[in-house]
Amino acid sequence: MDKLPSHAKVVIIGGGVVGCSILFHLAKFGWKDVVLLERSELTSGSSWHAAGQIHTISSDPNISRLQGYTINLYKEIEELSGHSVGMHSTGGFYLASNKDWYDYLKRERSKARYMGLDQEFISIKEAASRHPLIDPSHYIAALWDPLDGDVDPSGVTYAYAKAARIHGARYFTHTPVLETNQKPDNSWDVVTADGGINAEIIINAGGLWAREVGHLAGLHLPVQPMEHHYLITEDIPEIIERDTRLPAGIDYEGNIYFRQERDGMLLGTYESRATAWSVAGTPSDFGHELLAPKLDNIAERLEIGFARIPALGRVGIKNIINGPFTFGPDGNPMIGPVPGMRNYWVAVGVMAGFCQAGGVGLCMAEWLIDGEPSIDVWAMDVARFGDFASPDWGTVKSSENYERRFVMTFPNETLPKGRRQQTTALYDRLVGKGAVMGQSYGLEHALWFADSPEDAYENPTFRRSRAHDFVAREVAAVRSAVGAVEIANFAKHEFTGAGARDVLDHILAGRLPEPGRLALTPMLSPNGRLLGDLTVACFDETHFCLFGSGAAQNMHRRWFDHHCAQRDNVQYRNATERWHGIALSGPRARTLLQRMVRDDVGAAAFRFRDVRQGFVGGVPAMILRVSFSGELGYEIYVAPQYLIRLFEAVESAGVGLGLRLYGARALMALRLEKNWGVWGLDYRPDFTAAEAGLDKFIDWQKTFIGKTAAQQEADRGVTRKLVSMVIDVDGIDVSNDEAIFADGDAVGYVTSGGYAHHIGKSMAFGYVPVSLAKDGARLEVEILAKRYQARVFDLPIYDPSGQRMRD
Ligand SMILES: Cc1cc2nc3c(=O)[nH]c(=O)nc-3n(C[C@H](O)[C@H](O)[C@H](O)COP(=O)(O)OP(=O)(O)OC[C@H]3O[C@@H](n4cnc5c(N)ncnc54)[C@H](O)[C@@H]3O)c2cc1C
Repeated sequence: MDKLPSHAKVVIIGGGVVGCSILFHLAKFGWKDVVLLERSELTSGSSWHAAGQIHTISSDPNISRLQGYTINLYKEIEELSGHSVGMHSTGGFYLASNKDWYDYLKRERSKARYMGLDQEFISIKEAASRHPLIDPSHYIAALWDPLDGDVDPSGVTYAYAKAARIHGARYFTHTPVLETNQKPDNSWDVVTADGGINAEIIINAGGLWAREVGHLAGLHLPVQPMEHHYLITEDIPEIIERDTRLPAGIDYEGNIYFRQERDGMLLGTYESRATAWSVAGTPSDFGHELLAPKLDNIAERLEIGFARIPALGRVGIKNIINGPFTFGPDGNPMIGPVPGMRNYWVAVGVMAGFCQAGGVGLCMAEWLIDGEPSIDVWAMDVARFGDFASPDWGTVKSSENYERRFVMTFPNETLPKGRRQQTTALYDRLVGKGAVMGQSYGLEHALWFADSPEDAYENPTFRRSRAHDFVAREVAAVRSAVGAVEIANFAKHEFTGAGARDVLDHILAGRLPEPGRLALTPMLSPNGRLLGDLTVACFDETHFCLFGSGAAQNMHRRWFDHHCAQRDNVQYRNATERWHGIALSGPRARTLLQRMVRDDVGAAAFRFRDVRQGFVGGVPAMILRVSFSGELGYEIYVAPQYLIRLFEAVESAGVGLGLRLYGARALMALRLEKNWGVWGLDYRPDFTAAEAGLDKFIDWQKTFIGKTAAQQEADRGVTRKLVSMVIDVDGIDVSNDEAIFADGDAVGYVTSGGYAHHIGKSMAFGYVPVSLAKDGARLEVEILAKRYQARVFDLPIYDPSGQRMRD
């Protein structure tokens, strides 16, 4: 056997399908000095006992796209390695047995159109002719995907590893990693019984042992192995008689997935009561082992399976597999550089490795080699979780996610588990006033307000929900009087020190404000893609604060840490938890604010985009004059211990002014008719500043990260642009990801939208070819399989000059 090298650029820990795919992609893209260490044989975690079913459907369009990439990659690794991946390209269908699931499939179909994925509805008769063992009477719709099928899990893992070796990488089996110790130069000493490797970067791809591998470096990952059952039947006569393989299938409402396995069938289910496995930690001696089946847990689902595929009940069960595999809190992988750590990357919580490992390997390799992945990987980025994602919270959420794998989650639905992980001082008061709460980055915030706590519930739906009229009321208060919304969930990033302006000038593409002023700015990646849209406040030349997306705070923190690390004249900290607050919006906001302060906040004294530190309602505060609603607006931030006092001051100063509390839904509706996009939906790394229309904030006179790419793009012109559309609907609105059509062709997809209550119109934003990004252009938007007329509006329909927020 080869001797371990003493040094490597990258050491990957774990030889499951994920680690092997990363090894393959790094070597293929040119990094040869890459080593994978596996404690036993390859596939010794969850990879060897997977059902091997492959499909493209995912909640996130980019993950779907990457699943398509993974499936299409199998031919390449098989040919290169000479190792069979055992692929059966049978195609497969998703079956709906009720209207909600049919709606869900319509949405998936719409999403797939623009991603170039070839899904089509087929009739139930056609589904039954392709799979004669299903009882069609249970179903009302079937969505066909020709990419679906199955692979041999072990074959795939070995094919990746051998193909990686052919590209020049190395892997070592029976080499458990015992320690990972960081050196002063930020490289890692990876310790094994056979010697150590000094690695510039390490990647935790420990799968079932991701938590334990993390502990070696002091990292606590919120992932959890879950027990999972599938069974394999005895041979089925109808299958023996066939000369073609049966397609794969998922029956969501029945909560079963199935495919042909030799001359029998394989049937799996996600139990309604999940069993988290080895919560305290995965045993180090767990090997190629299975767990004792818990038939009681799946009996109910088996009955459903036998009713819907009656042939299953006519033959015996040959084998029941109960194997553990790891889930993350939202069911998606956690990949990328870990915020707060140097040169430590993860690719963990990959619960559908045979659908996703190819895409994970691709993105990890691009990110490592090029500095950024080629598509937005936010849905997989480890930075979407932070300190709040404790191991206990991870177990609770991962279990919930397991149970909901085939359970419908509607766009307006908030999940019940792991709630109140982080709350502000206002939580009980807001709930007492009828708030329907949501959670973002672990923090509770009000979505909208019902009339009372008893009335505060949502009806999950793809259509307009009962929240519609309540949100309308909140919007009306903001447009005509004044509204107050809690804003603890906006991120705040503080930069101090003599080098603060200098470093921010480099990181941010926009012009920095003078002391006492605010500016909006995009933040770009080296390739010119959007990394953030931020509000910068300058208090003095050595003190700046950036306000941005709360959900993205850890991602931004990672970026800021990276760029401040080498500078000793600037200090950066994520100050989000230090500043809670309340925003006031509406024509009477100034009157309300003036009642709470001694200083003059008149239009001349406190101008649009001014920022000041002072006192509001008797407590120390920073006050920004900004607006996300299009009305006169102020954001007031205070330390958390002052929040109740501020809230009480706002309530008493608001008496007689028509003050109403509002929530995130109203905020999202208000910005629609102002043509303002939001981070994570309309603005994200899939797009550039010029495509998003944020290039107007770029300061071309200075140098900044991404300037060359942005300049090149400006010279050649963009091919697509973000547009805002009014849609002629019949009582339904977009949520996001719906296909946009022009002359019958899918030309883009919706990034966000909803009902703009004040103008009384349904609106959507999306990226379309520049030729269509013109005022008045006629498009169509597909909502639940029906196409609606849409018209592009260049200027905001509400207050196009922006005078109301400036007055
Ligand atoms: C019953 C079942 C059915 C499934 N069905 C499907 C399916 O149909 N389709 C699908 O896509 N997915 C399926 N999966 C999920 C799939 O198996 C996982 O997504 C995949 O195996 C995850 O791969 P991984 O590489 O992340 O982890 P693992 O396979 O767990 O690999 C981790 C590796 O790290 C090694 N390791 C750990 N610690 C160390 C250390 N200290 N030093 C060195 N090496 C270490 C381990 O030995 C192991 O080989 C199924 C899983 C189960 C259990």
